[in-house]
Order: sequence, then C-alpha cells, then structure tokens
Amino acid sequence: MSILGHTEVISVDLCRRCFEATDLVFAFGVLYYWPMISTMIDEVFASVQGEGPWVGQRHVFVRFIGCDLRCVYCDTPDAAKGASGTEVKNCSAQVSPGSFERESVPNPLSLACLSNLCARLRIPGLSRPVLSLTGGEPLLHRAFLKEWLPSERKTFRIYLETSGIHYAEMRALAGLIDVVSMDIKLPSATGGRALWNEHRKFLLATEGAERFVKAVVSGSTVPEEILVAARLVAEQDRTVPFIIQPASGPLSPKVESLILFQDITLEILEDVRVIPQVHTMLQLP
Ligand code: SF4
Repeated sequence: MSILGHTEVISVDLCRRCFEATDLVFAFGVLYYWPMISTMIDEVFASVQGEGPWVGQRHVFVRFIGCDLRCVYCDTPDAAKGASGTEVKNCSAQVSPGSFERESVPNPLSLACLSNLCARLRIPGLSRPVLSLTGGEPLLHRAFLKEWLPSERKTFRIYLETSGIHYAEMRALAGLIDVVSMDIKLPSATGGRALWNEHRKFLLATEGAERFVKAVVSGSTVPEEILVAARLVAEQDRTVPFIIQPASGPLSPKVESLILFQDITLEILEDVRVIPQVHTMLQLP
C-alpha cells in the first residue's frame, strides 16, 4: 500500500475506536489528538536479527532517531544523532520483504503511516512475526510507543533493543514489550561514564518480560568491568542470559580476552554466550 494513503487509514481506525468509546469526551480527545502523534524514524526494513540469542530470525526493524549516549563503537551514528530525536531527515523504508528497494518517507511519521510500513514487510506464514524496536534509543519515543504498540502487538511480538538506562520509560511500557535486549554499557568500551545505577534500576523494570543482557566488549575492555556487569545481573537473577558481543573492525578484542571474559562471568551467571554481530558478517542491513 502506498504510504500516500495513510490519512485514509487513520480515518477508518479512528471511526472504529470512537464507536467503541463510551465516553464522548474521550472519543473527541482521540479524534483530535491521535492523528497528531508522530515521531522521527530513520529506517524501516526487514532483515535477519544479527545479535544476541535470537540471532538468525527474520525481524521487521524500526530504527528510531535520537540517542543520548555516544558509544565509540556505535554502528548507527546517523540514527543516534539528535539527542531528542528532533533532527529532520526522511525515513528510508523498504518496500517489500523480498526486495532491497526503498522509498523515502518524510518525517515525522504518524502512527498509521508507520503501521503500514511495517505491515507490508510481514512474511506470510505460520510464525508470529517479530517487530524489533531499535535505534538510536527507542525509549526516548515513549509517548509514541505507548499509543502505537497496543495495535502492533495484535500482529507482532515486540522486541526492544535498548541502551538499558531509561528505567522510568521501561516501567511505563513494560506490559507492551515481549522481549528486552538490554545493553550494559562498559565505560572502557563506550568511552563514556559508568551507568551502573541506571542499569540496575532498568533491569528491575524488565521483570516479567523475556530478557537478556548484552555487553559490547572492545580491545580496551577491562575484566573488572565485565565482573561488575555480571554481578549487577546476578543480584537480581543469575539465570538471565548474558551475551558478550565483540565490537567489530579495528575495535574488536583479542580472542583470548573473549574467553577470559566468558570464564569469569560463568562463575557468577548460569548462561553466558559469546555472540558476534552476524548481520555484519553477512553484509545485511
Ligand atoms: S546506545 Fe546504541 S545507538 Fe546510542 S550511541 Fe550507543 S551504540 Fe549508538
């Protein structure tokens, strides 16, 4: 469906919602407010999940614009730009799941427009498709997600990729997210400050969701920080899977370091895996 038709889709959806509403004030509020909700999206595409324990599955990815961190190993600097996600650029949207063709969609995108862009990338079949919220930092778009996810959850499993620090936003969206891929940022790898307290509170906010923790390690990562991260997870639940992900390219750590990191974390946690970025190896988006 052409995204030029998105105004029509909003009207149909609004009629149904308003019909079901018993409170007229609420209905008028929805009529007035809902079409105005929009946000900044960098790209929408279907690809193979390249990180963590869900690696290899087919996902539909929505990459949100804006991040408040600046990790030196960031592989999506364009999406990370604009701390509040306000930088204006067009969204690059794949037109069908079997094609690499993309179209340029003006930002910001409305709820219905983004739903249409995702729906056309679904693979027909028996499995429940997965929608990956990635970025940038998706949780900076909390108000949009709060409105958008209830309808998407009827079709997709919702998988969140996050820096793992926005615990208030996570709490607000907890019931709407099925799987949480939570980063723990190691200062020696990110080049930024320690965020242990934020990570501790965030992990607490993910209770009830399927979850795992991911720590990107580079050539400058020190074992002490991996231990702090592992202990932080073990304080809450030592069965949460802990993924050690080597940074790619010139930042990548030595193989001996990866083995050492896994050895020391396995003394604290039950499930520690070393998983590289597979989409990078396959040269997939
Ligand atoms: S948190 Fe993620 S998107 Fe933000 S700078 Fe770090 S790697 Fe990039």
